[in-house]
Amino acid sequence: MRYDVLIIGGGPAGNYLANLLAGEMRVGVVERKGAFGGKACTGIVGAKNYKRLGFPEEAIINELRGASFYSRIQSFEISRSSAQAYMVDRKTLERKLAERALEKGADYYLQATFQGFKNGRAIVQHVGERLEIEADFYVGADGANSTVAKAIGARTDAEFLSGYEIEVIGEFRRDFVEVWVNKDINDKFFFWVAPLNERVARVGTLGSLRSLREFLRIRRLKPTSVLEFKSGSVGLGWRRAWVKDNVALLGDAALQIKPTTAGGIVFGAFCANALADAILNGNPGEYEKLCKAIKRQISFGLKFRRAFLGMSQDDIEKVFEVLGSREAIEVIESQAEFDDHLKTAKAILKRPRLLARLLKVSPSIVRYLV
Ligand SMILES: Cc1cc2nc3c(=O)[nH]c(=O)nc-3n(C[C@H](O)[C@H](O)[C@H](O)COP(=O)(O)OP(=O)(O)OC[C@H]3O[C@@H](n4cnc5c(N)ncnc54)[C@H](O)[C@@H]3O)c2cc1C
Repeated sequence: MRYDVLIIGGGPAGNYLANLLAGEMRVGVVERKGAFGGKACTGIVGAKNYKRLGFPEEAIINELRGASFYSRIQSFEISRSSAQAYMVDRKTLERKLAERALEKGADYYLQATFQGFKNGRAIVQHVGERLEIEADFYVGADGANSTVAKAIGARTDAEFLSGYEIEVIGEFRRDFVEVWVNKDINDKFFFWVAPLNERVARVGTLGSLRSLREFLRIRRLKPTSVLEFKSGSVGLGWRRAWVKDNVALLGDAALQIKPTTAGGIVFGAFCANALADAILNGNPGEYEKLCKAIKRQISFGLKFRRAFLGMSQDDIEKVFEVLGSREAIEVIESQAEFDDHLKTAKAILKRPRLLARLLKVSPSIVRYLV
C-alpha cells in the first residue's frame, strides 16, 4: 500500500483534511475505532465559521443565539437575534466528512491503530492483521494523546485536563448557553450548560468529576437524570513542532485548541486548510506559517488562562461587575466573535471607562491581555 498522504486519526480534523486532499492526491486514513463519533465533546461550534468551513448542515441539532453568565452571586446576559453557535452531533459531523472524502476516492481503514514508524512506513494493527503502510507524507490527527507526536518526538509543557460531560434532563432555555464561573467549586475551569432542546442539555467542565457533581446540585439538576456520561482529555498549551520532516500534526494532536473554552473543532479545520495548501503547494514546511492567525489566538488564550488561574472568586466577582455593565454588554453584543476572543478583548479594552474599571479590579488581567 502506498499513498501520497496517510492521515492517522479519523476525527473531525483528520476527516476534514482527507476531504480537502482526496481527489487531488492518493489519501489513506487510519482510524482506531470501528465507527465515527463517541468522543466526549459538547459540540458547540461558532455558526459563522461552521458555514465558512463548509461543515455539514445535517450535524446541527440546535442553534444558540445568546449566553447567560453566572458567578457565585451575579449574572448577566449577552444576546443576538441570529444564531451565534450551533450544537452539533459529533458522530454525524465526523461521518459526513468521511463520506465526502470517501466519495472523492480516499481509502479508510477502521479498527486500525497506528503503532509507530519503521523504515519510513506506518505500522498499523488492523483487525488482527499487521499492516505496513507507506506514504510520501504522514499526518498525525490522532487527538490530544497523539501517538504520532510521541513518535516524532514533539514536545509539550501543556496543561492536560480531564473533561467530564453529561447529557441531563432538566429545564433549559433552548437558544441560550449557560456559563458558570465558581472557583469555590472548580478553580480550573468554568461549567457549561449547553441545551439540545428545552428538556435536554450537555453539562460539563474540565477539572474534577467531584466539582461537576457539586455543580449539578447548585444548578438543581439531578445526577440520576442522566442520559449519557463521557470523559476525555484536553491539552492547553503548545506542542512543537507541528511539522517534522515528512510528518505533520493536526488538530488536538498539535494542541490546536482554544485555551479559553477548550473548543478545538474550528481551529483544527482552519489548520487543516493551511496544511492542505502547504502539501498541495509542495511545501509542507510552510504549514506553521500559514497557521499564524490560529497561533495568535492560542497565544492570547494562554495569557487569558494564566490570568484566570491567578484570580480568586472575589476577583471574578469584580470582573463580572465590569462585564455585566451596560457599556460592556453593548460592546460584546456588537463586536464579539465566537471564535475570536482576542477581538472581543481588544474591543473591551479600547473603551477607556471599561479599561480603567478593569485596571482597578484586576491589573493582572489587563497586564496579561495587553
Ligand atoms: C468534555 C469536552 C468537551 C468539548 N467540547 C467541545 C466543544 O463544544 N466544541 C469544540 O470545538 N471542541 C470541544 N472539545 C474539544 C474537541 O473535542 C477536540 O478539539 C476535537 O475533538 C479535536 O478533533 P481531532 O480530530 O483533532 O481529535 P479527536 O477528536 O480526538 O480525534 C482523533 C481521532 O484519532 C483516533 N486515534 C487516536 N489514536 C489513534 C491511533 N494510534 N491510530 C489510529 N487512530 C487513532 C481517535 O480514535 C479519534 O477518532 C471538547 C473536549 C472535551 C474533552
